[in-house]
Amino acid sequence: MSDSTTSAGGGLWRRIPLWQKILAGLALGVLTGALLGEDASVFKPLGDIFINAIKMLIVPLVFSTLVVGITAMRDPQKMGRIGARTIALYLLTTAFAIAIGLFASWLFQPGTGLEMSFDSAVEAKEAPSLREILVNLVPQNPIDALANGNILQIIVFAIGLGISLTLIGDKGEPVVRVFESFAEAMVKLTNIVMAFAPIGVFGLIAHVAGSYGLEVLLPLAKVIGVAYLASALHVLLVYSGLLALLGRLNPLRYLQGILDALVVAYSSASSSGTLPVSLRCARNNLGVSEGVSGFVLPVGATINMDGTAIYQGVVAVFIAQLIGVDLSLADYGMIIVTGTLASIGTAGVPGAGLVMLSIVMAQIGLPLEAIAVIAGIDRLLDMARTSVNVAGDLMVTTLVGKSEGELDESVYNAPRKS
Ligand code: ASP
Repeated sequence: MSDSTTSAGGGLWRRIPLWQKILAGLALGVLTGALLGEDASVFKPLGDIFINAIKMLIVPLVFSTLVVGITAMRDPQKMGRIGARTIALYLLTTAFAIAIGLFASWLFQPGTGLEMSFDSAVEAKEAPSLREILVNLVPQNPIDALANGNILQIIVFAIGLGISLTLIGDKGEPVVRVFESFAEAMVKLTNIVMAFAPIGVFGLIAHVAGSYGLEVLLPLAKVIGVAYLASALHVLLVYSGLLALLGRLNPLRYLQGILDALVVAYSSASSSGTLPVSLRCARNNLGVSEGVSGFVLPVGATINMDGTAIYQGVVAVFIAQLIGVDLSLADYGMIIVTGTLASIGTAGVPGAGLVMLSIVMAQIGLPLEAIAVIAGIDRLLDMARTSVNVAGDLMVTTLVGKSEGELDESVYNAPRKS
């Protein structure tokens, strides 16, 4: 009797789709944080273990699935085309993002009428030069790139290896089969780790919700609201619009399909850390092929940061309003250019965007100390911008997949089951 009760309970748990359990973890986390305050951080280790487990997957998963994807494509020219489309779409969406951020801040004036003092000194970062970025794409030592998790270098090596394995034909078969089996195991391990996502998300969110008191949030509520609103508009208008217009796809399916990645990005504030979840969403829910998702997503997690770009637009204008500086049209143009470059240079880790903000601020002559005003609430902004960063990667992956005939629309259009 007791056996059957246990299995009935287990059965019910298993029948609830994962995305619903993850959302429940999020809601429960907020509630726990609100009730327990700082004490909710006892649950943080649950979140840390989950994040470590997904990070553990990044290098082996990206490397093996990309090699397999490229050998399956069997066409180096196609690779070049995919690369060009990916970069063009990433740049286009980022420019849109920063413009939306600027517009929202200009419209809602979150910094006007606020009195705040700033004292701590902050040093300006330098934007990486194009030359530096290009030279560093090629690893001197692929093992070193793998050990350090340098995603762009890993991609370059995986593409080279994949193309060479294709070119040597039958002789490459045994190695291809090893990679196929290894990639399969990594996908399985991702599924296993994801089963713990509801608990991990709960632990992370309980900690965040518990550590922000109203006294830090209230004065900045308007700028937080503007950043969240601009982020939502970008996803709902630009991403949905591009999917519908360029891809002739139903945006609602996209939004449903990316939900797990959005929640993990929101609670972890790391788009690189979310990569295994994004890969899983792209393949299982959106129906994008291994080759396309294995290339477009890791590149996106490293260089495409639309949420960060929105944030830079919103915050730069907010700070100008705070100190009473009128920005000229040229300043707005400068923010778009430097913000786009700074977002490309931003690492997909928590807090990176705050550091890169100094580039934009320095460029238009705003005092760097003002960054301190935002630093106290940056985690909340970071969570939103990371979700947009990840949503953008997944949107571009879907469009590139569609344009290359590498999108299985029967999967894309199927109602979500898990
Ligand atoms: N945390 C963001 C990300 O991982 C980067 C940022 O701080 O803007 O995508």
